[in-house]
Order: sequence, then structure tokens, then C-alpha cells
Amino acid sequence: MLWIHGIAQWLHFFFTSRYLSARHTRKGCQVPQSTYEGQHVHCIYCWSPSEFCICGWADRIVNQLPVHIFMHHKEASRRSNSAHLLMMSLKNVRLDMHGVKHQPTQWPSDSTPRPLCVLFPSEDATELTPNDRGNFDRLIVLDGNWRQAKKAANRIAKACQPIFKTLPLKAPSEFRLRQQSDVGRLSSFEATARALSILENITYEERMMPLFRAHVRVTMEARSRRGWHRQNSQST
Ligand SMILES: [Zn+2]
Repeated sequence: MLWIHGIAQWLHFFFTSRYLSARHTRKGCQVPQSTYEGQHVHCIYCWSPSEFCICGWADRIVNQLPVHIFMHHKEASRRSNSAHLLMMSLKNVRLDMHGVKHQPTQWPSDSTPRPLCVLFPSEDATELTPNDRGNFDRLIVLDGNWRQAKKAANRIAKACQPIFKTLPLKAPSEFRLRQQSDVGRLSSFEATARALSILENITYEERMMPLFRAHVRVTMEARSRRGWHRQNSQST
């Protein structure tokens, strides 16, 4: 039933967010063609400017290992955030916000039959390998900046006995939408795709990454257009 809860969470998130005003018709992804003076109407599903809707790139995979995302609430309004793409890519996924004032987070309990796998480089973290397959109850992804993720990791460590894992160093991140101080850092989407490729099926990364790459591409394009509009309005 995890997926039902995930969908409910996500619907609540969408309908309380500022993207509610965006008009969208799902059929054939016929989103409205935007815009005026560099302002974009955004698709409420993929968050892309409507003329660049990438919903058609999503390949919803029925993942056996549930994915549970803990997103810091400040990420919810950042259009470059990649966790929302996980909601489009996977069927067995749940999202919980944390850090919201006066709204307690439902951190995981230790009542699960198998331990939780938390992707976070804590001191006792070890590298994920195919030998870890079948060992975990679910995969926990911490979405936010380093400080926010560390806070969430500490809360989860207090709430249950998770196993912290890191990913093997592979290709660098393709996430060009934010500057990273550490070249080894990955976006939540990339980290999840790589973890599921190790823990479940090697094809995950190959199937999930086209949506992510499209997201990066259209967001960069939208940013360059905004810059063009800004320059033009300043010169007139
Ligand atoms: Zn879309």
C-alpha cells in the first residue's frame, strides 16, 4: 500500500503548491503553449515550461524495492529539484516532507522486518554492492542540500537502525542545474537510479536517465531564454 500513500502525498503536494495555477491537459501532453514576456506556464507533472513538457519521456517502472524520499520542504519550490522525476519514473515510491514548522515528520520506525537502506555517506557507511540485494526493506533517499540531508539522516538513525550506504564512484553527475562543490555528489534522481541498478536490476539507470537528461536539457534551455528576454527588456 506504500504506493497509494505515495500518490496521496504527491497529490497533496501538487495541489498545495504554487504550480496549481498551471493549466494542463494530460491527453497527448497538450499543455498550453505558454507565455508572455519570458514568463512560462509550467506543466504541473514534470515542472517543465509547458512548451518543453517532458512527460512523454517517463517510463514508469514497477520497482520491487520501495523507494521512500524524505524531501526538505525548501526543495519543494525549487524547479531544478529532481525528486519529483522519481515520482514519475517509479511506481513504488513515497515522498514525505520534513523541516516544515509545526508539522511533525513521520520518520520510519524500526518495526520493519528488514533494515532500511539509507543513501548517505555517514561515518559507518559502506559501499553498496550486488551482494546487498534482498537485504533491505526499502531504499531511503534524502533530498536536499548537505546540511538538510545530514539532519534527516540523524533523525532516521535515532528512529530506527538503518544501514547507511554510499554508491561506488562511477561517471560524474550529469546534473548541470546546480553547482556542486563535490564532484562525486549526485542528484537524488541519479543516486536512486544507480542504487536500484545495483539492488534490483542493472537496467534501471538506462531506463530512467532519458527523463532526467530531458529535464536538464529543457531547464537549461528555459533559463537561457529567460536570460534572453531579460537582456531584451533591459535594452528597450
Ligand atoms: Zn509535463
